[in-house]
Amino acid sequence: MKYNTKDYDYLIVGSGPYGSIFAYEAAKRGKRSLIIEKRQNVGGNMYTHKKHGINVHDFGAHIFHTDNKEVWDYINQFTEFNGYINQVVANYKGELYNLPFNMNTFYQMWGVKTPEEAAKKIAEQREAAGISGMPKNLEEQAISLIGTDIYIKLIKDYTEKQWGRKATELPSFIIRRLPVRYTFDNNYFNHRYQGVPVDGYSVIFKKMLESELIDVKCGNDFFDDKEIYLNEFPKIVYTGMIDSFFDYKFGELEYRSVRFESETIDSNNVQGNAVINYTDAETPFTRVMEWRHFDKKSDEGKSVLTKEFPQDWDRSKEAYYPVNDQKNSKLFKLYRLEADKLKNVHFGGRLGNYQYYDMDQVFGAALKTIEKEFKGMDK
Ligand code: UDP
Repeated sequence: MKYNTKDYDYLIVGSGPYGSIFAYEAAKRGKRSLIIEKRQNVGGNMYTHKKHGINVHDFGAHIFHTDNKEVWDYINQFTEFNGYINQVVANYKGELYNLPFNMNTFYQMWGVKTPEEAAKKIAEQREAAGISGMPKNLEEQAISLIGTDIYIKLIKDYTEKQWGRKATELPSFIIRRLPVRYTFDNNYFNHRYQGVPVDGYSVIFKKMLESELIDVKCGNDFFDDKEIYLNEFPKIVYTGMIDSFFDYKFGELEYRSVRFESETIDSNNVQGNAVINYTDAETPFTRVMEWRHFDKKSDEGKSVLTKEFPQDWDRSKEAYYPVNDQKNSKLFKLYRLEADKLKNVHFGGRLGNYQYYDMDQVFGAALKTIEKEFKGMDK
């Protein structure tokens, strides 16, 4: 079987943002790519579709946020963003709190009204818990940042169901993704630019991949013919799981997976917010998205809601989150060394690099790779 039928310059494995940006930029420079995608849709986990006039994100809420102006301008060339600001509400056994951790949360939790009172409360709880020095894990990091009460009600159980392991066995950087602020500001992110595309993310990928120098084959698994692909293509951009590429020869890296359950309800407003987190241990899902609140529109009197359930990963499931703890980081290094030996295969994206990247980081990394790849060609 011959796959490189058109003398493609690149085989791109996976049509998520990393692979699609690469193909788009290569085409701009006259280079021909074949993208193979094992799913039936392009765009990876950024894929969205419209239902009752509402953009539904099939693989979980994707809110674009960045401080990187180059990345922001780059994605804006493909679509218009709507200025959505994510403001998450947490439900702990029926008590509601604003996230991320800010003066509203502190007021709701303790009745404190000033930053000074809040800081005092947190310092007392940190001290009572005996936490000082460098936090060794997520639990210590969380208590040291926002005290025991918030840790117990808003972090511990959510984190343990999200990751399927104890908060004491997780790296502290995961909780530092969330801002802690001593102002009344419920913006979930600290970044300067934020939003979701007015028409969903899928249009971005449609535009990126419309060049006649790009062919996309969905429903094609690289591993069905790996050796043939490796022999036929001068260069491969691989965005799948790095351990899978090497047939798990050093062992499996750990991932966390999620699954989604959606329903449509005859209403314009079911939960009053785009995202509500359920931070107790008993509720089996972590969060519920009501998609119309991302768009601020729904013309048909219907609302689409999606529940997100974390689940263990195995080879039959999609890998969503890398578990970047020490053990896995060590294992990843072994794979990285193998990857470096392959001069004609480039590894990229969240799975290819085994990094808990946000979308903007994937965009930034792809643009860096392009710069390197086509150095000298661009003026
Ligand atoms: N987290 C939490 N409670 C919440 C929301 C988040 O404890 O209500 C913790 C949890 O450990 C989670 C991490 O913060 O994995 C990062 O949250 P984020 O919303 O950034 O996760 P993502 O959207 O990438 O799943």
